Amino acid sequence: MFKVVKFGGSSVASSEMFGKIKQIVESDKKRKIVVVSALGKRQSSDAKITDLLYLLKAHIQYGVDYNPILDQIKERYVGIRNELGLKVDIEKEFDEIEKIIKVDCNEEFIVSRGEYLCAKLMADYLGFEFVDAKDLFFFDYNGTIDQEKTDEAISKTFKGKGIVVPGFYGAYPSGQIKLFSRGGSDITGSLLARGIKAELYENWTDVSGILMADPRLVENPKRINEISYDELRELSYMGAKVLHEETIFPITEMNIPIKILNTNRPQDEGTLITKDCLDKGDIITGISGKKGFVSLIVFENRGVKKINAILDTLKVIKKYHLDVEQISASIDSFSLIIEKASIEKCLYEVINDIKASELIEKVKFDDDIALVAVVGRNMALKPGTSGKIFAVFGEAKINIKAIAQDTQELSIIVGVSNNDFNSAIRAVYDKIVK
Ligand code: ASP
Repeated sequence: MFKVVKFGGSSVASSEMFGKIKQIVESDKKRKIVVVSALGKRQSSDAKITDLLYLLKAHIQYGVDYNPILDQIKERYVGIRNELGLKVDIEKEFDEIEKIIKVDCNEEFIVSRGEYLCAKLMADYLGFEFVDAKDLFFFDYNGTIDQEKTDEAISKTFKGKGIVVPGFYGAYPSGQIKLFSRGGSDITGSLLARGIKAELYENWTDVSGILMADPRLVENPKRINEISYDELRELSYMGAKVLHEETIFPITEMNIPIKILNTNRPQDEGTLITKDCLDKGDIITGISGKKGFVSLIVFENRGVKKINAILDTLKVIKKYHLDVEQISASIDSFSLIIEKASIEKCLYEVINDIKASELIEKVKFDDDIALVAVVGRNMALKPGTSGKIFAVFGEAKINIKAIAQDTQELSIIVGVSNNDFNSAIRAVYDKIVK
Protein backbone atom coordinates (compact mmCIF):
# COMPACT_ATOMS: atom_id res chain seq x y z
CA MET A 1 0.00 0.00 0.00
CA PHE A 2 1.29 3.45 -0.94
CA LYS A 3 0.73 7.05 0.09
CA VAL A 4 0.03 9.97 -2.21
CA VAL A 5 1.79 13.12 -1.03
CA LYS A 6 0.75 16.53 -2.33
CA PHE A 7 2.77 19.67 -1.69
CA GLY A 8 1.08 23.05 -2.02
CA GLY A 9 2.52 26.28 -3.44
CA SER A 10 4.26 27.50 -0.28
CA SER A 11 5.86 24.05 0.18
CA VAL A 12 7.56 24.26 -3.23
CA ALA A 13 8.37 27.99 -3.16
CA SER A 14 12.18 27.73 -2.90
CA SER A 15 15.13 25.36 -3.12
CA GLU A 16 15.15 25.26 0.68
CA MET A 17 11.54 24.00 0.63
CA PHE A 18 12.50 21.41 -2.02
CA GLY A 19 15.09 20.16 0.52
CA LYS A 20 12.40 19.72 3.18
CA ILE A 21 10.22 17.82 0.72
CA LYS A 22 13.05 15.43 -0.13
CA GLN A 23 13.52 14.61 3.54
CA ILE A 24 9.82 14.02 4.01
CA VAL A 25 9.51 11.80 0.92
CA GLU A 26 12.63 9.79 1.69
CA SER A 27 11.69 9.20 5.31
CA ASP A 28 8.81 6.91 4.32
CA LYS A 29 9.15 4.31 1.56
CA LYS A 30 5.40 4.37 1.00
CA ARG A 31 5.55 7.98 -0.24
CA LYS A 32 5.91 7.15 -3.90
CA ILE A 33 3.37 9.41 -5.64
CA VAL A 34 4.22 13.08 -5.34
CA VAL A 35 1.92 15.88 -6.57
CA VAL A 36 3.09 19.47 -6.71
CA SER A 37 1.45 22.87 -7.08
CA ALA A 38 3.12 25.77 -8.89
CA LEU A 39 5.63 27.77 -6.88
CA GLY A 40 3.91 29.89 -4.24
CA LYS A 41 5.10 32.86 -2.23
CA ARG A 42 8.44 32.74 -0.39
CA GLN A 43 7.42 35.83 1.57
CA SER A 44 4.34 38.01 1.57
CA SER A 45 5.79 40.46 -1.00
CA ASP A 46 6.23 37.63 -3.54
CA ALA A 47 3.72 36.80 -6.27
CA LYS A 48 2.32 33.30 -6.79
CA ILE A 49 3.44 31.81 -10.10
CA THR A 50 -0.14 30.87 -11.03
CA ASP A 51 -1.24 34.50 -10.60
CA LEU A 52 1.71 35.65 -12.73
CA LEU A 53 0.76 33.17 -15.44
CA TYR A 54 -2.79 34.57 -15.59
CA LEU A 55 -1.21 38.02 -15.86
CA LEU A 56 1.11 36.78 -18.60
CA LYS A 57 -1.86 35.55 -20.60
CA ALA A 58 -3.59 38.95 -20.22
CA HIS A 59 -0.46 40.77 -21.45
CA ILE A 60 -0.22 38.55 -24.53
CA GLN A 61 -3.93 38.90 -25.21
CA TYR A 62 -3.89 42.71 -25.04
CA GLY A 63 -0.59 43.11 -26.87
CA VAL A 64 1.31 44.51 -23.87
CA ASP A 65 5.03 43.65 -23.55
CA TYR A 66 4.99 40.38 -21.63
CA ASN A 67 8.74 39.86 -21.29
CA PRO A 68 9.14 41.35 -17.78
CA ILE A 69 6.53 38.92 -16.44
CA LEU A 70 7.88 35.96 -18.36
CA ASP A 71 11.38 36.74 -17.04
CA GLN A 72 10.08 36.99 -13.48
CA ILE A 73 8.48 33.55 -13.82
CA LYS A 74 11.55 32.03 -15.52
CA GLU A 75 13.88 33.40 -12.84
CA ARG A 76 12.08 31.50 -10.08
CA TYR A 77 12.44 28.14 -11.87
CA VAL A 78 16.01 28.75 -13.06
CA GLY A 79 16.91 29.83 -9.50
CA ILE A 80 15.74 26.54 -7.97
CA ARG A 81 17.33 24.50 -10.76
CA ASN A 82 20.70 26.21 -10.28
CA GLU A 83 20.66 26.21 -6.49
CA LEU A 84 19.96 22.47 -6.45
CA GLY A 85 22.30 21.66 -9.36
CA LEU A 86 19.56 19.99 -11.40
CA LYS A 87 19.69 19.13 -15.08
CA VAL A 88 16.24 20.22 -16.32
CA ASP A 89 16.66 22.50 -19.35
CA ILE A 90 14.32 25.25 -18.11
CA GLU A 91 15.42 27.67 -20.85
CA LYS A 92 14.45 25.17 -23.54
CA GLU A 93 11.12 24.51 -21.83
CA PHE A 94 10.36 28.24 -21.84
CA ASP A 95 11.37 28.55 -25.53
CA GLU A 96 8.90 25.81 -26.34
CA ILE A 97 6.16 27.37 -24.24
CA GLU A 98 6.72 30.72 -26.00
CA LYS A 99 6.56 29.07 -29.41
CA ILE A 100 3.23 27.44 -28.55
CA ILE A 101 1.62 30.51 -27.02
CA LYS A 102 2.57 32.69 -29.97
CA VAL A 103 0.46 30.44 -32.17
CA ASP A 104 -2.37 29.80 -29.68
CA CYS A 105 -2.62 31.97 -26.58
CA ASN A 106 -4.62 29.39 -24.62
CA GLU A 107 -5.08 30.43 -20.99
CA GLU A 108 -5.41 26.91 -19.59
CA PHE A 109 -2.21 25.77 -21.28
CA ILE A 110 -0.24 28.83 -20.12
CA VAL A 111 -1.44 28.62 -16.52
CA SER A 112 -0.83 24.86 -16.30
CA ARG A 113 2.89 25.39 -16.97
CA GLY A 114 3.34 26.52 -13.36
CA GLU A 115 2.78 23.02 -12.00
CA TYR A 116 4.28 21.31 -15.09
CA LEU A 117 7.69 22.96 -14.61
CA CYS A 118 7.64 22.49 -10.85
CA ALA A 119 6.99 18.76 -11.31
CA LYS A 120 9.87 18.55 -13.83
CA LEU A 121 12.28 20.02 -11.26
CA MET A 122 10.90 17.92 -8.41
CA ALA A 123 11.16 14.67 -10.40
CA ASP A 124 14.79 15.39 -11.23
CA TYR A 125 15.53 16.29 -7.59
CA LEU A 126 13.88 13.22 -6.07
CA GLY A 127 15.11 10.88 -8.81
CA PHE A 128 11.48 9.98 -9.56
CA GLU A 129 9.84 9.70 -12.98
CA PHE A 130 7.93 12.75 -14.29
CA VAL A 131 4.41 11.82 -15.44
CA ASP A 132 2.44 14.53 -17.24
CA ALA A 133 -1.02 15.19 -15.80
CA LYS A 134 -2.45 15.43 -19.32
CA ASP A 135 -1.82 11.67 -19.68
CA LEU A 136 -3.60 10.76 -16.43
CA PHE A 137 -6.62 13.01 -15.91
CA PHE A 138 -9.27 12.98 -18.60
CA PHE A 139 -12.09 15.49 -18.81
CA ASP A 140 -15.25 15.18 -20.87
CA TYR A 141 -16.12 18.17 -23.03
CA ASN A 142 -18.64 19.23 -20.40
CA GLY A 143 -15.76 19.77 -17.98
CA THR A 144 -16.34 16.77 -15.72
CA ILE A 145 -13.72 14.11 -15.07
CA ASP A 146 -14.05 10.84 -16.99
CA GLN A 147 -13.53 8.73 -13.89
CA GLU A 148 -13.17 5.37 -15.59
CA LYS A 149 -10.57 6.52 -18.10
CA THR A 150 -8.68 8.41 -15.39
CA ASP A 151 -8.66 5.47 -12.95
CA GLU A 152 -7.42 3.18 -15.70
CA ALA A 153 -4.63 5.53 -16.80
CA ILE A 154 -3.43 5.93 -13.22
CA SER A 155 -3.38 2.24 -12.39
CA LYS A 156 -1.61 1.44 -15.69
CA THR A 157 1.03 4.12 -15.09
CA PHE A 158 1.92 3.54 -11.46
CA LYS A 159 3.96 0.40 -11.00
CA GLY A 160 5.35 1.03 -7.51
CA LYS A 161 8.30 3.21 -8.56
CA GLY A 162 8.36 6.88 -7.55
CA ILE A 163 6.52 9.35 -9.78
CA VAL A 164 5.98 13.12 -9.68
CA VAL A 165 2.77 14.50 -11.18
CA PRO A 166 1.90 18.17 -11.76
CA GLY A 167 -1.31 19.20 -10.00
CA PHE A 168 -4.19 21.37 -11.21
CA TYR A 169 -4.77 20.12 -14.76
CA GLY A 170 -5.68 17.29 -17.09
CA ALA A 171 -6.82 17.14 -20.70
CA TYR A 172 -9.93 17.13 -22.88
CA PRO A 173 -10.38 14.18 -25.26
CA SER A 174 -8.66 16.34 -27.92
CA GLY A 175 -5.54 16.51 -25.74
CA GLN A 176 -6.05 20.21 -25.04
CA ILE A 177 -5.19 21.21 -21.47
CA LYS A 178 -8.06 21.68 -19.02
CA LEU A 179 -7.55 23.21 -15.57
CA PHE A 180 -9.39 22.32 -12.39
CA SER A 181 -10.71 25.35 -10.50
CA ARG A 182 -8.24 27.35 -8.38
CA GLY A 183 -6.57 25.29 -5.67
CA GLY A 184 -7.31 22.18 -7.74
CA SER A 185 -4.02 20.36 -7.10
CA ASP A 186 -5.80 19.01 -4.04
CA ILE A 187 -8.18 17.21 -6.43
CA THR A 188 -5.26 15.88 -8.47
CA GLY A 189 -3.98 14.27 -5.27
CA SER A 190 -7.28 12.65 -4.40
CA LEU A 191 -7.78 11.33 -7.94
CA LEU A 192 -4.36 9.70 -7.70
CA ALA A 193 -5.13 8.32 -4.23
CA ARG A 194 -8.29 6.79 -5.67
CA GLY A 195 -6.55 5.47 -8.79
CA ILE A 196 -3.86 3.59 -6.85
CA LYS A 197 -6.17 2.76 -3.90
CA ALA A 198 -3.79 4.57 -1.57
CA GLU A 199 -3.52 3.81 2.11
CA LEU A 200 -3.38 7.55 2.87
CA TYR A 201 -3.46 10.87 1.04
CA GLU A 202 -1.09 13.32 2.71
CA ASN A 203 -1.71 16.96 1.92
CA TRP A 204 1.37 18.98 2.94
CA THR A 205 0.94 22.68 3.46
CA ASP A 206 2.17 25.54 5.68
CA VAL A 207 -0.08 24.94 8.68
CA SER A 208 -0.04 22.04 11.14
CA GLY A 209 -3.54 20.86 10.37
CA ILE A 210 -6.96 22.44 10.33
CA LEU A 211 -7.67 24.93 13.08
CA MET A 212 -10.98 25.21 14.89
CA ALA A 213 -11.37 28.82 13.81
CA ASP A 214 -9.63 31.40 11.64
CA PRO A 215 -6.43 32.45 13.51
CA ARG A 216 -6.90 36.01 12.21
CA LEU A 217 -10.09 36.20 14.25
CA VAL A 218 -9.36 33.97 17.22
CA GLU A 219 -6.12 33.95 19.17
CA ASN A 220 -4.33 30.63 19.02
CA PRO A 221 -7.26 28.42 18.00
CA LYS A 222 -6.97 24.72 18.81
CA ARG A 223 -6.06 22.26 16.06
CA ILE A 224 -8.71 19.77 14.96
CA ASN A 225 -7.38 16.30 15.63
CA GLU A 226 -9.81 14.40 13.47
CA ILE A 227 -12.71 15.51 11.31
CA SER A 228 -15.20 13.71 9.09
CA TYR A 229 -15.50 14.24 5.32
CA ASP A 230 -18.92 15.84 5.83
CA GLU A 231 -17.78 18.24 8.52
CA LEU A 232 -14.86 19.29 6.37
CA ARG A 233 -17.22 19.97 3.45
CA GLU A 234 -19.34 22.20 5.68
CA LEU A 235 -16.33 24.08 7.03
CA SER A 236 -14.64 24.61 3.67
CA TYR A 237 -17.89 25.51 1.95
CA MET A 238 -18.45 28.13 4.63
CA GLY A 239 -15.06 29.73 4.12
CA ALA A 240 -12.36 27.70 5.89
CA LYS A 241 -9.57 27.55 3.33
CA VAL A 242 -7.76 24.30 3.90
CA LEU A 243 -8.58 21.95 1.10
CA HIS A 244 -10.38 22.49 -2.19
CA GLU A 245 -14.02 21.75 -1.35
CA GLU A 246 -14.22 18.99 -4.01
CA THR A 247 -11.17 17.11 -2.72
CA ILE A 248 -13.07 14.38 -0.95
CA PHE A 249 -15.41 13.47 -3.85
CA PRO A 250 -13.10 10.99 -5.63
CA ILE A 251 -12.17 9.14 -2.43
CA THR A 252 -15.38 9.15 -0.42
CA GLU A 253 -16.62 5.76 -1.56
CA MET A 254 -13.18 4.19 -1.03
CA ASN A 255 -12.87 5.63 2.45
CA ILE A 256 -9.27 6.79 1.96
CA PRO A 257 -8.15 9.04 4.83
CA ILE A 258 -6.51 12.41 4.22
CA LYS A 259 -3.95 13.96 6.52
CA ILE A 260 -3.16 17.68 6.57
CA LEU A 261 0.49 18.17 7.50
CA ASN A 262 3.03 20.99 7.74
CA THR A 263 6.10 20.82 5.45
CA ASN A 264 7.97 23.10 7.88
CA ARG A 265 7.08 21.01 10.93
CA PRO A 266 6.72 17.39 9.76
CA GLN A 267 6.87 16.22 13.38
CA ASP A 268 3.49 17.89 14.16
CA GLU A 269 0.39 15.70 14.36
CA GLY A 270 -1.74 17.46 11.75
CA THR A 271 -5.41 16.74 11.15
CA LEU A 272 -6.83 13.42 10.03
CA ILE A 273 -9.90 13.50 7.76
CA THR A 274 -11.88 10.28 7.64
CA LYS A 275 -15.28 9.17 6.44
CA ASP A 276 -16.77 8.16 9.76
CA CYS A 277 -14.41 9.85 12.17
CA LEU A 278 -14.25 7.67 15.28
CA ASP A 279 -12.34 10.23 17.33
CA LYS A 280 -14.40 11.55 20.25
CA GLY A 281 -13.51 15.20 19.87
CA ASP A 282 -15.23 18.30 21.24
CA ILE A 283 -18.92 19.18 20.87
CA ILE A 284 -17.91 21.66 18.21
CA THR A 285 -15.42 20.58 15.57
CA GLY A 286 -14.92 24.00 14.00
CA ILE A 287 -16.35 27.44 13.38
CA SER A 288 -16.21 29.21 10.04
CA GLY A 289 -18.33 31.57 8.03
CA LYS A 290 -18.52 34.18 5.31
CA LYS A 291 -19.55 37.78 5.02
CA GLY A 292 -21.44 39.28 2.11
CA PHE A 293 -24.91 37.79 1.70
CA VAL A 294 -28.28 39.23 0.78
CA SER A 295 -31.57 38.00 2.17
CA LEU A 296 -34.62 38.32 -0.09
CA ILE A 297 -37.79 38.27 1.97
CA VAL A 298 -40.73 37.31 -0.21
CA PHE A 299 -44.34 37.79 1.01
CA GLU A 300 -46.93 35.71 -0.80
CA ASN A 301 -50.53 36.75 -1.29
CA ARG A 302 -52.89 35.36 1.33
CA GLY A 303 -54.30 31.98 0.52
CA VAL A 304 -51.86 30.95 -2.22
CA LYS A 305 -50.02 27.67 -1.91
CA LYS A 306 -46.54 28.36 -0.56
CA ILE A 307 -44.99 25.75 -2.84
CA ASN A 308 -46.21 27.64 -5.91
CA ALA A 309 -44.93 30.97 -4.62
CA ILE A 310 -41.53 29.41 -3.85
CA LEU A 311 -41.43 27.74 -7.27
CA ASP A 312 -42.19 31.02 -9.07
CA THR A 313 -39.44 32.74 -7.09
CA LEU A 314 -36.88 30.01 -7.71
CA LYS A 315 -37.57 30.18 -11.45
CA VAL A 316 -36.42 33.81 -11.35
CA ILE A 317 -33.32 32.88 -9.33
CA LYS A 318 -32.49 30.22 -11.91
CA LYS A 319 -33.09 32.60 -14.82
CA TYR A 320 -30.37 34.88 -13.41
CA HIS A 321 -28.00 31.90 -12.86
CA LEU A 322 -27.94 32.53 -9.12
CA ASP A 323 -27.67 29.98 -6.35
CA VAL A 324 -29.42 29.85 -2.99
CA GLU A 325 -27.44 29.42 0.22
CA GLN A 326 -30.43 28.98 2.53
CA ILE A 327 -34.21 28.99 2.43
CA SER A 328 -36.43 29.50 5.47
CA ALA A 329 -40.16 30.00 5.68
CA SER A 330 -42.81 31.39 7.99
CA ILE A 331 -46.55 31.50 7.58
CA ASP A 332 -46.93 34.26 4.97
CA SER A 333 -43.36 34.75 3.77
CA PHE A 334 -40.15 32.99 3.02
CA SER A 335 -36.53 34.16 2.73
CA LEU A 336 -33.75 33.20 0.40
CA ILE A 337 -30.14 33.93 1.30
CA ILE A 338 -27.94 34.54 -1.73
CA GLU A 339 -24.29 35.48 -2.15
CA LYS A 340 -24.09 39.26 -2.56
CA ALA A 341 -21.31 39.22 -5.16
CA SER A 342 -23.50 37.12 -7.46
CA ILE A 343 -26.76 39.09 -7.12
CA GLU A 344 -25.41 42.64 -6.71
CA LYS A 345 -25.59 43.62 -10.36
CA CYS A 346 -29.08 42.30 -10.97
CA LEU A 347 -30.73 42.71 -7.55
CA TYR A 348 -33.47 45.12 -8.68
CA GLU A 349 -34.25 43.13 -11.85
CA VAL A 350 -34.53 39.97 -9.74
CA ILE A 351 -36.88 41.68 -7.28
CA ASN A 352 -38.99 43.07 -10.12
CA ASP A 353 -39.26 39.70 -11.79
CA ILE A 354 -40.25 38.02 -8.51
CA LYS A 355 -42.88 40.70 -7.91
CA ALA A 356 -44.27 40.09 -11.39
CA SER A 357 -45.75 36.78 -10.19
CA GLU A 358 -49.42 37.10 -9.31
CA LEU A 359 -48.76 34.93 -6.24
CA ILE A 360 -46.38 37.41 -4.65
CA GLU A 361 -47.48 40.43 -2.68
CA LYS A 362 -44.16 42.18 -2.02
CA VAL A 363 -40.42 41.58 -1.75
CA LYS A 364 -38.02 43.17 0.74
CA PHE A 365 -34.30 42.66 1.04
CA ASP A 366 -31.54 42.90 3.62
CA ASP A 367 -28.07 43.22 2.10
CA ASP A 368 -26.15 43.09 5.36
CA ILE A 369 -25.92 39.40 6.16
CA ALA A 370 -22.92 37.35 7.26
CA LEU A 371 -23.24 33.63 7.96
CA VAL A 372 -21.52 31.97 10.89
CA ALA A 373 -21.33 28.17 10.71
CA VAL A 374 -20.84 26.14 13.86
CA VAL A 375 -19.96 22.61 12.75
CA GLY A 376 -19.73 19.43 14.78
CA ARG A 377 -20.79 15.80 14.41
CA ASN A 378 -20.99 15.63 18.22
CA MET A 379 -23.76 18.23 18.35
CA ALA A 380 -26.30 15.70 17.09
CA LEU A 381 -28.83 14.41 19.59
CA LYS A 382 -27.42 16.57 22.39
CA PRO A 383 -30.27 18.64 23.79
CA GLY A 384 -29.17 22.10 24.80
CA THR A 385 -26.38 22.56 22.25
CA SER A 386 -28.21 25.06 20.06
CA GLY A 387 -29.50 26.80 23.20
CA LYS A 388 -25.90 27.27 24.37
CA ILE A 389 -24.87 28.67 20.99
CA PHE A 390 -27.75 31.12 20.80
CA ALA A 391 -27.15 32.22 24.39
CA VAL A 392 -23.61 33.19 23.40
CA PHE A 393 -25.01 35.53 20.73
CA GLY A 394 -27.40 37.02 23.27
CA GLU A 395 -24.69 37.59 25.88
CA ALA A 396 -22.48 39.25 23.28
CA LYS A 397 -25.45 41.44 22.25
CA ILE A 398 -25.33 40.16 18.69
CA ASN A 399 -28.67 40.19 16.91
CA ILE A 400 -29.48 36.94 15.06
CA LYS A 401 -31.12 37.58 11.68
CA ALA A 402 -31.44 33.99 10.43
CA ILE A 403 -31.03 30.47 11.75
CA ALA A 404 -30.61 27.14 9.94
CA GLN A 405 -29.97 23.63 11.15
CA ASP A 406 -30.43 20.55 9.01
CA THR A 407 -31.88 17.41 10.53
CA GLN A 408 -28.49 15.67 10.35
CA GLU A 409 -27.56 18.22 13.06
CA LEU A 410 -24.06 18.55 11.65
CA SER A 411 -24.08 22.33 11.62
CA ILE A 412 -25.94 25.34 12.91
CA ILE A 413 -25.75 28.34 10.62
CA VAL A 414 -26.56 31.76 12.03
CA GLY A 415 -27.06 34.93 9.99
CA VAL A 416 -25.81 38.15 11.59
CA SER A 417 -24.92 41.65 10.42
CA ASN A 418 -21.52 41.86 8.66
CA ASN A 419 -20.30 44.13 11.45
CA ASP A 420 -21.00 41.44 14.04
CA PHE A 421 -19.26 38.65 12.12
CA ASN A 422 -15.83 38.79 13.79
CA SER A 423 -17.17 39.16 17.30
CA ALA A 424 -19.66 36.33 16.71
CA ILE A 425 -16.89 33.89 15.76
CA ARG A 426 -14.79 35.01 18.71
CA ALA A 427 -17.69 34.76 21.14
CA VAL A 428 -18.64 31.22 20.08
CA TYR A 429 -15.04 30.09 20.28
CA ASP A 430 -14.37 31.72 23.65
CA LYS A 431 -17.55 30.57 25.34
CA ILE A 432 -18.03 27.10 23.90
CA VAL A 433 -14.65 25.79 22.79
CA LYS A 434 -12.08 27.40 25.05
N1 ASP B 1 -1.54 26.68 -8.53
C1 ASP B 1 -2.97 26.60 -8.58
C2 ASP B 1 -3.58 27.74 -7.80
O1 ASP B 1 -2.90 28.61 -7.30
C3 ASP B 1 -3.49 25.26 -8.17
C4 ASP B 1 -3.08 24.81 -6.80
O2 ASP B 1 -2.12 25.28 -6.23
O3 ASP B 1 -3.74 23.91 -6.28
O4 ASP B 1 -4.79 27.79 -7.71
